[in-house]
Amino acid sequence: MVLKDDPTLMFVNSGMAPFKEYFLGNATPKNNRLADSQKCLRVSGKHNDLEEVGYDTYHHTLFEMLGNWSFGDYFKEEAIAWAWELLTEVLKIDKDILYVTVFEGSDDADNLKMDTEAYDIWKKYISEDRILKGNKKDNFWEMGDQGPCGPCSEIHVDIRTPEEKAAVDGKTLVNEDHPQVVEIWNLVFMQYNRKANGTLEELPNKHIDTGMGFERLCMVMQDVKSNYDTDVFTPIIREIEAITHTDYGKDEKVDIAIRVISDHVRAVAFSIADGQLPSNNGAGYVIRRILRRAVRYGFTFLNKKEPFIYRLVEVLSRQMGDAFPELKAQKQLIENVIKEEEASFLRTLDQGLVLLDKMIEGAKSNEISGAKVFELKDTYGFPEDLTDLILRERGFSYNISEFNQKLEEQKARGKEASESKSDDWTVLMDDAEEEFIGYDYLQADVKLTRYRKVTSKKDGELYQLVFNLTPFYPEGGGQVGDKGYLEVPNGDVVYILDTKKENNVIIHFAKNLPKSLNETMRAVVDTKQRARTECNHTATHLMHQGLREILGTHVEQKGSSVHSKYLRFDFSHFSKVTPEQLQEVENFVNARIAGRLPLEENRSVPMQEAIDNGAMALFGEKYGDAVRTIKFGQSIELCGGTHVGNTADIWHFKILSEGAVASGIRRIEAITNDAVKEYFSSTDAAFGKVKALLNNPKDSVAAIEKLQTENSDLKKQIEALLKDKAKNIKGELKNEIVEVNGVNFLATQVDLDAGGMKDLAFELGGEIENLFIFFGSNQDGKALLTCYIDKEVATSKQLNAGTIVRELGKHIQGGGGGQPFFATAGGKNPDGLAKAIEEVRNYLN
Ligand code: ATP
Ligand code: MG
Repeated sequence: MVLKDDPTLMFVNSGMAPFKEYFLGNATPKNNRLADSQKCLRVSGKHNDLEEVGYDTYHHTLFEMLGNWSFGDYFKEEAIAWAWELLTEVLKIDKDILYVTVFEGSDDADNLKMDTEAYDIWKKYISEDRILKGNKKDNFWEMGDQGPCGPCSEIHVDIRTPEEKAAVDGKTLVNEDHPQVVEIWNLVFMQYNRKANGTLEELPNKHIDTGMGFERLCMVMQDVKSNYDTDVFTPIIREIEAITHTDYGKDEKVDIAIRVISDHVRAVAFSIADGQLPSNNGAGYVIRRILRRAVRYGFTFLNKKEPFIYRLVEVLSRQMGDAFPELKAQKQLIENVIKEEEASFLRTLDQGLVLLDKMIEGAKSNEISGAKVFELKDTYGFPEDLTDLILRERGFSYNISEFNQKLEEQKARGKEASESKSDDWTVLMDDAEEEFIGYDYLQADVKLTRYRKVTSKKDGELYQLVFNLTPFYPEGGGQVGDKGYLEVPNGDVVYILDTKKENNVIIHFAKNLPKSLNETMRAVVDTKQRARTECNHTATHLMHQGLREILGTHVEQKGSSVHSKYLRFDFSHFSKVTPEQLQEVENFVNARIAGRLPLEENRSVPMQEAIDNGAMALFGEKYGDAVRTIKFGQSIELCGGTHVGNTADIWHFKILSEGAVASGIRRIEAITNDAVKEYFSSTDAAFGKVKALLNNPKDSVAAIEKLQTENSDLKKQIEALLKDKAKNIKGELKNEIVEVNGVNFLATQVDLDAGGMKDLAFELGGEIENLFIFFGSNQDGKALLTCYIDKEVATSKQLNAGTIVRELGKHIQGGGGGQPFFATAGGKNPDGLAKAIEEVRNYLN
């Protein structure tokens, strides 16, 4: 479900996404006919159903798409016949509840004719009054702005009661968002290609792509009116009811919340199982937002103020774990991650509530500014709909148009930064399959097969180059892409800035095009960067093995990035790795470096054989039937990356840090080779300076410990001195107390910090009856006020310290508050202290 090598998509959002390369002609499928089930997530980009989910009964974030496929094989005739046969004869759905649609044509720039071909085929199976014509929006399917596309035929069901059907003709409800007249299956007939300039061309090979939503089919088969009343959802909903003491089906708001949560827990759990953890950017951020949406609905409508969504994973994995073993295998991790995320977002909500309280308190009118609400959302993650709800409960509102404007501004900034435009490929050599030879060669004579220009705000103009073969390793498996250059016979040099894989194609990024496009050129990889990266990659394997050996086999890779300068490795483990354990891991790896283990590589092993030999497959990775295995000593792993020829090349391995990234996930950062040499020499130099500062003692550690002891003794002495000083002040202040209308009154500037003033006030209050104290203080240019009123005085004279500091706070340009007998304020204008101290006397008149 989580895509790795596709810059245009974060998640699989339709059945065809994994087959894109076949439709684009960049790869050849083993079979021309396929049928499958595919997990899809529609929460971003072209397909985004997120806001619908929960409000209607038939859109989900995660759903299973059932499909059948023809890559240049069968076309409309068979696709329609088989769809009909499956629905009416195999699944025995009553054909009188079915409607189908065909494309009516368009009179826009594309000027497309009606799909009479499909119409004539459908006529053989279904009466003509059930074949409806549809417009481009519903009946012309496009993969994106560019690429294969074509007309489609949808199949809709009408599952209303006979009375409802008698009242309104089903025909008029198709594609009208009626919850019981819904599309279940879409048959796409791919016959065109949309070019970058917007025009269409006929595809030489025509394809079939069909998609049927499993959950909607279940609704029909189980004869219920909502996807949420099917076996797919009811066990989760029963669990939510039990945990939150609610009943599904009694109150629409509660129902929406229950649907949202039952849907979102699936999306989040499956994403984590596929290796995508919630995070602060990219796909991880999308997952975080889905989970937060669920928390928000639970918080607001089910009144759940503590984590509970993680508790649904148990039911989900029991229910779907047989079909999706990754759920069962990673249940504990999924629960931990969700629980931690829930807890942290609930803390955010709590903080947001406090800030919101302050906003309401300080409000000058009943309308809060939209910019403030936006800031709450943007900086603190506090959602505007919740803000709105709370404001309305208190009789407030906020300026929505100002809020929307801020939001639009932010969106525009983001869009500008991420927007990119790509030209059509210019093809120089057809049908040349690009071959990766970078395991064996770092230089090669290559020919350009195609190129295109991509323009983006972020990178400016870049050229993407594809060759007939290449020694450049494309970013993948955590390892960065190679850099290097091209030598063109005329003396030109073109720098390759990065190499990436887009589905199956290896793309080289260059700032400019070689001048002579058709000549053979020399492609040269930056060997230094490659060699350093290889050290880090092999060290990653050895460390993974070491972690499993030392911490236990529960350790599994959860993320890896291998750079030339360092390596970073995330893995499942439930507590901090102790310094002793880290030392052991370091020793484990360094022993294997000293052991001079040669690389044993096998480029094509049957997957099962590799697993039997002890290689571990990672969740969320795609593997072919044959895989590449990498072996150093006992460690054998599935890997497509590049490695050192012998572990001795790594020279040395050093762990720099260990910490938590999420609940149950730890991260280690480490370095090898040159970076270790630099590290040792710079720490050595720093230590030299430390010793010099200590006057070169024999034992530096003992010298520092001695300094620390001295330091803490000095601190204690200073504290004692300050206490004495405070006592003196107290003595002096006692003399300043005067009687005003029967109250012992003291107002003066003391220049202590807030804690000092409080202590002093309470000490004086303990010794002297009927006391009213007002202190001002100038602390490094900031003004502080403290007001203490004896409890009896506060009651009898109806005085309120909170009100007093708030009112006098205006002189110091600040604000504050507290209780009737003790309050404080802070402000930025110390020049106003005298005025405040002068005026406070008025309260006693
Ligand atoms: P709709 O108009 O109902 O949103 P769609 O036109 O977006 O559907 P397609 O992209 O053609 O749907 O996808 C094919 C099938 O996938 C649909 O017929 C439906 O059964 C299912 N499907 C699409 N979106 C969802 C979703 N968000 N949740 C569940 N099933 C879906
Ligand atoms: Mg849709």
